[in-house]
Amino acid sequence: MTADASGKNTKFVRVWRQLSVEDVKKQLLYIDDLYGTCGNCKKLGLNYLKDKKCPDCGITFKYLATKLSKVADIGKILSRIDKEGLDLTLIEREDFERSSASDAARDLFKS
Ligand SMILES: [Zn+2]
Repeated sequence: MTADASGKNTKFVRVWRQLSVEDVKKQLLYIDDLYGTCGNCKKLGLNYLKDKKCPDCGITFKYLATKLSKVADIGKILSRIDKEGLDLTLIEREDFERSSASDAARDLFKS
């Protein structure tokens, strides 16, 4: 729990929003804890706190998706984004993959 600018206590609440799958694809960073993979060119080892853009393909990251599913892990990511004042939105990976016509995103998480 953190406080907003007016001093009110705030909590993370999931919000449903309509997004263009094509737009998200071009601005997405897949993360596994701190490090992630560019959703566009699949470059590995990007740090979402530092890499605002992909050094390889040049896209600007606006969305994050993670395979972490524990509420505590998600909370950590959201707190970091909030603390660093980053312009990033965490999206539900399953929702995105279900909406995505391509299986490319899913393949990233095959181990
Ligand atoms: Zn890239």
